[in-house]
Parts: sequence; structure tokens; C-alpha cells
Amino acid sequence: MTSIWDLASPQLRSLAVYEPGKPIEETARELGIHPAEIVKLASNENPLGPSPKAIEAMRSALDNAHLYPDGSGFYLCKAVAAKLGLKPQNVILGNGSNEIIEFLGHAFVNPGDDVITCQYAFIVYKLLATAFGVRTIETPTPDYQQNLDATLRAITAKTRLIFIPNPNNPTGTLVSQGAIDHFMSLVPDKVIVIFDEAYFEFLDDPPDTLRFVREGRNVIVLRTFSKIHGLAGLRIGYAVAPSDIIEVLHKTRQPFNINSIAQAGALAALGDEGHLRETKRVMDEGRAYLQEQFAEMRIPFVPAVANFVMVNVGDGCAVFQELLRRKIIVRPLKGYGLPEWVRISVGTMKENKKLIAALREVLWEHR
Ligand SMILES: *Cc1c(COP(=O)(O)O)cnc(C)c1O
Repeated sequence: MTSIWDLASPQLRSLAVYEPGKPIEETARELGIHPAEIVKLASNENPLGPSPKAIEAMRSALDNAHLYPDGSGFYLCKAVAAKLGLKPQNVILGNGSNEIIEFLGHAFVNPGDDVITCQYAFIVYKLLATAFGVRTIETPTPDYQQNLDATLRAITAKTRLIFIPNPNNPTGTLVSQGAIDHFMSLVPDKVIVIFDEAYFEFLDDPPDTLRFVREGRNVIVLRTFSKIHGLAGLRIGYAVAPSDIIEVLHKTRQPFNINSIAQAGALAALGDEGHLRETKRVMDEGRAYLQEQFAEMRIPFVPAVANFVMVNVGDGCAVFQELLRRKIIVRPLKGYGLPEWVRISVGTMKENKKLIAALREVLWEHR
């Protein structure tokens, strides 16, 4: 008997499936309770929800749901470009910024090539590289801090892409402007550097990587509407890069990869400065509270800069399960090779307090 695996691409045999944060609905079914009782702090979503302006724009867009969307996302690309001081030809939209990572696989790698990222980096880079038959080199990160000198040393003749998540998810650590500038002065031009800035808008003093795009370097900056903009369910993100790179990426995408509702919602969300400011304020306050509580409880954590904190609870899976029984979903990190850790998204103050109360109970029982 032949197995289907004899017919499938060989690299798929060892490919793990991406494990998302446990969904609210699934948890509610398992516990036999109403979804509204559950606090989800597992996927770095915006606990305030979408911008009311985005909801209104999406409602209006429904009337035209029978029409195909604008394939190039003209108005949204224009608005993103204007906000960043670039041209629309420097922007491409993706069905989530994750789809753009897939574009990169189609556009720039072949089986046998390699890509570089850091240990504990966002797992999607490696999953996609593996799917494309490409090796992922992971540079060690003592103290969870990315070391771009190690990245430079890891470059081989086959290196095509370097992924720099900044800040990284799940560790939450940031690479400084100085380290980035030094790295960019030494990285060979034949390698494309991707700065994944999904959490850019949460940073107080964000490094500037768009300057490399303006200079025409082989640099791609990824941003998303899934995090601070509160539109994770719509699946929409974008890449900013020199126009020749964007031109290549357009050839790899499906004609209508971004639906019309998402385009309308994202356009309105982009302009809602009030919602962005309020979200950042709630995140700053909640992150400070959580870190203060972790310190008081003597739980080791990696100092955070975005809307999530990685904490060492001893047995990540056990604590995940115990919190789940208390109707709180966090993210265990065993799949990242961090079995002692969980990642906790910052919620509203009410949610944060529930989490801390439950965590105190759980860790007390485990003593
Ligand atoms: C959440 C996240 C993204 C966003 O992915 P989308 O496909 O835009 O939802 C990208 N990169 C990192 C590092 C993330 O944590």
C-alpha cells in the first residue's frame, strides 16, 4: 500500500501544524460555559475590540459584498503610504502579514536555500521555510535577546532571507536602533532583510527601519492590523519595501487576496488615532501592573515592551491547564522549546486582575 505521504512533498512529513492560541468558543464548549465568561489572553489581540469607526465602515461595505474587492487595495495602500511618508508603490497588502511571509517563499527561495532567524523567533518563519524546502538557521539567544552579530556570522552562500522580529514574539525583546544600523552596514546586499514589526505601534521609542526602504536597500518591513488596530479576525497586514521588491511580491499573490470588508475596516482603523492612543494607554498601564505583580510574586519574566509578557511559571503546560479551569486562556510555549514559560497578553485592567488572582491561586497550590 502506498501512503499519501509517498505522494506529498517530502518536506511536509516533518512539518508541524501551527498551533494558535486556544479559541474562546472551543474552551466554552469544553467547560460547558458561556463564551462571555472566558478571558482570552493568548493571542495578543486588542482587548478593547476594533475601532468603532472601523465597525461602521465595515457595515457600510457589506452593501457591496456582491462585488469583487479592489485587487490592489488602492485606497488603503495610498493611506498607509501617506501615513509613513512613502509612495503607494512601496506598499503591498496581505491576508494577514503572515500571507506576505508566504509571498517571500514563492518569490525569493528555492529548495536547498536557507533563511536565518533567532532562536525562539516567531514560529511562522520556520514553518513556511520548511514548507518551501528551505533550511532555517536559528542563532542562539542567551537572555532571549537577539544578537545581530551572530546573525551576520551565520550567513552562508545559500542565505536568501533574514527575519528580524522586532520586538520578537513570544520573548518580547527589542533590538536597538544602534544594533540595527550596525547590522545594516555589514549585511550583504544579496540577502533580503525582513523586519517584522507587528507590535510597532506599542513602542515608546520605536527603531526606524523605513529609512532603509527609502534608501532602496533590500529591506522589507512587515506591519499588521491584527494587533493594536484590533482587526485580527479580518486577516489584513502589509509590507513596506522598495518598489522593485513590491513589484516582485505582487506576482506571487492571488488576484483578490484582501476582501472588501477588511479593506474598509483597515482604512478606517488606520485613521482612528483616538482608538490607537487609548489602546496604547490601556496596554502601558496593564503591562506595568502585570510586571509589578509578577515581581512581587517572584515569578521571573522577560521585561516587555509590547502587549504581552513572557513569564516563567515552572511548568507552562500545567499552569496553562490550571488557568483554563479558571476560565482564563494563556499561551503555553512548549512548542517554542520554552516548556517552563507561558506568554500572557495584556488585557483590560479587569482581565489582568482576574489573571493575577487566578495565577496566585494556581502557583500557591503548586508549592
Ligand atoms: C501577531 C504577529 C504577526 C501578525 O500576523 P497577521 O498575519 O498579520 O495576523 C506577525 N508577526 C508576529 C511576530 C506576530 O506576533
